[in-house]
Amino acid sequence: KKRNPGEPEFHQAVFEVAASLMPYIVANPTYEDMQILERMTEPDRTISFRVCWEDDEGNIRVNRGFRVQFNNAIGPYKGGCRFHPTVTQSVLKFLGFEQQFKNSLTGLPMGGGKGGANFNPKGKSDREVMRFCQSFMHELFRHIGPDTDVPAGDIGVGSREIGYMFGAYKQLTNRFEGVLTGKGLEFGGSLIRTEATGYGAVYFLQNMLDQKGVDMSGANVVLSGSGNVATHAAEKVNQLGGKVLTMSDSAGFIHDPDGISEEKVNWIKNLKNVRRGRISEYADHFTNASYHEGKRPWSVSCDFALPCATQNEIDISDANELIKNGVRGLAEGANMPTELDAMHAFQAAGVLFGPAKAANAGGVAVSGLEMSQNSARISWKEGELQDLLQNIMKGIHDSCHKYGEGKGKDGDTDYVAGANIAGFVKVADAMLAYGVI
Ligand code: NDP
Repeated sequence: KKRNPGEPEFHQAVFEVAASLMPYIVANPTYEDMQILERMTEPDRTISFRVCWEDDEGNIRVNRGFRVQFNNAIGPYKGGCRFHPTVTQSVLKFLGFEQQFKNSLTGLPMGGGKGGANFNPKGKSDREVMRFCQSFMHELFRHIGPDTDVPAGDIGVGSREIGYMFGAYKQLTNRFEGVLTGKGLEFGGSLIRTEATGYGAVYFLQNMLDQKGVDMSGANVVLSGSGNVATHAAEKVNQLGGKVLTMSDSAGFIHDPDGISEEKVNWIKNLKNVRRGRISEYADHFTNASYHEGKRPWSVSCDFALPCATQNEIDISDANELIKNGVRGLAEGANMPTELDAMHAFQAAGVLFGPAKAANAGGVAVSGLEMSQNSARISWKEGELQDLLQNIMKGIHDSCHKYGEGKGKDGDTDYVAGANIAGFVKVADAMLAYGVI
């Protein structure tokens, strides 16, 4: 905390990982002798820069952009960019720190990084977003490259923003190369990248349930968010026979006791991605649905929970309410949506808990596959990619299970410890091979 003052999100992420890694490190003293965890908590570099742009009224606006290049021991830095007013160095360091473990878990050769800006795309015109993205890339382009650092989307950065940024990079460098992932299919994007994080989170939940012989069909699922991850998680729950009861945005949540079917999910995608409206409109449109302003959906009774909006959206009282109402499993679609004491409460209650770095790794895994396709200048078919995603999620589950087996309540699997250790080992061993640098 002394080394990184004023960075609470970063402290939270490091504390969580260190707590479950320490017994493993003590049992394998080379990691401690070589200060591997200490080195992994310091980014290789953090770049912070001015992003200056002109709004539609001709006013000059100034934002702060960042790229945190955390660790490239096992591959080029890789991780999304977030555009949101809450973006700070601390938030991006927490995300970049987590990303190095997550990328390692996928089994693909990707290091960890994260970036973004404290820019609020809400209420901005298309042209304003374009000018912002171009200005952001005006500095970022000199720090990235297909073998150096490959950014992608995150909150507030979807296919529109990736298109503007890729266009700017191409113009600035005069190179057409796989420098960003999440691109449009016309210019090097991969099929199923858009769906991958949400689908992957549900596959991870399903893998944990398979281990216990539990079926998802007919189950009630409470889900938060209504963005990329949330809508695709909802789609996959429907495909596997579950019933999605809630979705949300930063203003409140909707509860639909009839279930948010695939057709209704498509309506939400249109509302959010095309009309850029609010989730409250759902309750005006669909009978029996209700809207709860300023509230989160965790009070609705369910079998499984999928937090897919943002960090720290489940606190201890939310966790206690979910447990009281009978939740049996949770997979984190968002990054660090569960506060530490809430996570401990779930684990103590024997709730299957799939941590973000494992459960939401499907997106970056398909981004890794997009990088491979770009390097080879080919495009794989949808079926091949669907199979690869399912296999990668199963592989991640099995690694977490292997390293977490017997470490949980009553000898159960501790997926949090399992994910941290499994993600750590590959990066740590590469760092050992490089010596002291
Ligand atoms: P989107 O921008 O598409 O959607 C974000 C959703 O979360 C929106 O519904 C948004 O509501 C809501 N939200 C944002 N901030 C808050 C807040 N402070 N309180 C409550 N709700 C909030 O982002 P994604 O779906 O891409 O990302 C969601 C999460 O998943 C993030 O944690 C991200 O880091 C993580 N993730 C995303 C990946 C991806 O492939 N996209 C990959 C791995 C992780 P509103 O519309 O009101 O802003």
